[in-house]
Amino acid sequence: MTARTDGRRGVTILGSTGSIGTNTVSLIEADPAAYRVEALVGNSNLTLLAEQARRLRPALVVTADADKGQELARLLDGSGLRVAAGDDAVVEAANMPADWVMAAIVGAAGLAPTVAALRRGATVGLANKECLVCAGQLMMAEVGKGGGRLLPVDSEHSAIFQVFDFEQRDRVEKIILTASGGPFRAFAAADMAAITPEQAIKHPKWSMGAKISVDSATMMNKGLELIEAHHLFDMPEDRIDIVVHPQSVIHSLVAYIDGSVLAQLGSPDMRTPIAYALGWPKRINAPVERLDLAKIASLTFEAPDPERFPALRLAREALRAGGNAPTILNAANEVAVQAFRDRRIGFLGIAEVVEAALNERVPRPLASIDDVLAEDKAARVAAAAIVAKKGR
Ligand code: NAD
Ligand code: MG
Repeated sequence: MTARTDGRRGVTILGSTGSIGTNTVSLIEADPAAYRVEALVGNSNLTLLAEQARRLRPALVVTADADKGQELARLLDGSGLRVAAGDDAVVEAANMPADWVMAAIVGAAGLAPTVAALRRGATVGLANKECLVCAGQLMMAEVGKGGGRLLPVDSEHSAIFQVFDFEQRDRVEKIILTASGGPFRAFAAADMAAITPEQAIKHPKWSMGAKISVDSATMMNKGLELIEAHHLFDMPEDRIDIVVHPQSVIHSLVAYIDGSVLAQLGSPDMRTPIAYALGWPKRINAPVERLDLAKIASLTFEAPDPERFPALRLAREALRAGGNAPTILNAANEVAVQAFRDRRIGFLGIAEVVEAALNERVPRPLASIDDVLAEDKAARVAAAAIVAKKGR
């Protein structure tokens, strides 16, 4: 396959219909002379996917849902665009010759296409933290082997990437991830059992997809980000701190051996870290609200509460344990979050399911991406059984 060469940069968006995906599309559409879209991948929102495809005219449009190919083809009738459906088609989309790929599928479902893009040497903007959490070193090894590049899109990791002195990594003392604390930061422990999916999905600072919103509410999101930071920046678990910063203005910090602490600040708007990855190594314009520090007036910080947010402990333990533990943590969390959204378990049940799955699965090392996919599958089966036993 050869790239269509017209001077524009070829881009592919995996998960184009989601929160990160639509923000990415908006930045690309703001500068049509700069980008040519190779492939768009969505899942169930076919109307939006078809609208995006008619505007951006990618060489390939894919729905991950194998049963929806005909419906998507119908929506794109007369457009002349090539349409495909199913998991293999998602990987085919990642293999299209785009030199920049946004990985914005939610969950471990994004692992295979993200790895495919890395294997052919693409530059990947990584929003899809779950795939790095579940495949860890094995995925980082694909970056090395394929000659591609992984650019963080998660706001905390983008912040660290911007202030991390890679030439003097031995002079970095620690990295500090900031956390908004989510919607239940100030909730009493006694009130947490009754939290509903509607309450959990309404984040105070960020507008995001449903799954990551629930992860922010349990603080599992920060646990996943701890593991993500460990792999992206090759930092040991005990040198990654987490601090709650409710204003979400400082997106994360790096502390150096001379006592200096460097931070990146910005409005809580994902278009900034997406733009950073899209333009890298050049900065590009992002139409986000500019910071007005006098108006913000005060920035506050507090330690996270491990009692009310056990997910943080589980993630640290899984990272320390290594092997299949982070894969299980992620898979069980995905299953538990879905069960909570379907009202099959309560809010506190999410961390309980994850902990039970970690206790139940036998620890083992993972040798390949296929091995990761097998463990992910087995851990989902185990977590689903735990959910079924629990009920409400
Ligand atoms: P979302 O739910 O809004 O969008 C998910 C996208 O993935 C959609 O396009 C959907 O069609 C697609 N998708 C879902 N299941 C799929 C499957 N099985 N195969 C292929 N595609 C599938 O989620 P989001 O909030 O945009 O988050 C996407 C990723 O980015 C997540 O990993 C999340 O943790 C991460 N992230 C999001 C934010 C944010 O502000 N939204 C911030 C940091 C990181
Ligand atoms: Mg984040």
